[in-house]
Amino acid sequence: MANRIWNFNPGPATLPLPVLEKAKADLPNYDNTGMAVMELSHRSKQYDAIHKDALSLMRGLFGVPDNFKILFLQGGASLQFAQVPMNLLGDGKSADYIITGNWSKKALKEAKIQGTANVAATSEDTKFDRIPAQNELNLSGDAVYCHITSNNTVAGTQFQTFPETNGVPLIADMSSDIMSRQIDFSKFGLIYAGAQKNLGPSGITVVIIREDFINAGREDIPIILQYRTQADKDSLYNTPPTYSIYLMKLVLDWVQGLGGLQAMERRNKEKSDLLYGMIDEMSDFYKGAVEKDSRSLMNVTFRLPSEDLEAKFVADGLAAGFGGLKGHRSVGVIRVSMYNALEPQGIKELTAFMKDFAKKNG
Ligand SMILES: *Cc1c(COP(=O)(O)O)cnc(C)c1O
Repeated sequence: MANRIWNFNPGPATLPLPVLEKAKADLPNYDNTGMAVMELSHRSKQYDAIHKDALSLMRGLFGVPDNFKILFLQGGASLQFAQVPMNLLGDGKSADYIITGNWSKKALKEAKIQGTANVAATSEDTKFDRIPAQNELNLSGDAVYCHITSNNTVAGTQFQTFPETNGVPLIADMSSDIMSRQIDFSKFGLIYAGAQKNLGPSGITVVIIREDFINAGREDIPIILQYRTQADKDSLYNTPPTYSIYLMKLVLDWVQGLGGLQAMERRNKEKSDLLYGMIDEMSDFYKGAVEKDSRSLMNVTFRLPSEDLEAKFVADGLAAGFGGLKGHRSVGVIRVSMYNALEPQGIKELTAFMKDFAKKNG
């Protein structure tokens, strides 16, 4: 496909080409309605079918149990940093937070406004280069939830297994790894994710919430911010981001077509084996930025021997058709983001480029 690059942007991120092509074909006249999806009423039967399909595809593919509701909200993961504690804290209640990056810190800051939030562990003293081990956790025992960031988009770390919390439900920000692998829902009370990394375009935030967490939510906060409000109306209390939901539905169709989450997991493993394999093979030149047992399958961070070489790597990479390699401004490393939609072929070509670059500049 002419003029499309390998897009390693951290988010918004690359989308599957078949999804973009389907959206393009549907654009001016969706399903013989004479309208684009974004022009349909959110109360029309055509939009209703898109909405219901997106919900049921997600439930089926992700294996969401019956006692959880899936909500399609707005405001990004950042609103969830506030909405979670707003609903669930107050009245002397407390929560534990495991701090593994800048996003966890933001979540903690919002929680502290709403109630008591304890830091159960943090890896900030080593620049978030690892996920704290189970025996480092200082859990408070009476917490209503324990909050984690399952994948740390900036640092490039990921929980390989989820912490043991003695029955305290986990709440996870899965913005950058939702539906990249199968999970055991029995550990979770609530999962949230902005869609723009693994699920679709920006503008839609997915919240998967256990029913007792909906019911336990406070009733003295704004109605629009109570989870029960959207849960009772299947996320149609007000106008949802219809076009974003439609694109997400196309992404879910694409995931299903490839074989569901097992196939996604295999693809993601294949990509990360290739890329980490190359980093380890050429470890004189490329240095992984995080501890090996905390490595993320979604965001791979590494350093080169000098900042000049890092800048050259980004520039030469772009000239060779690889975009978005520059890491977050707070860490200044190279970062390769490779969510579900990133084709393994992109990593094959990138690792060939890396080998060549190291030979020429090493
Ligand atoms: C991108 C990201 C966010 C921020 O999401 P918004 O939708 O912009 O609010 C939060 N948490 C994680 C883990 C992210 O990767």
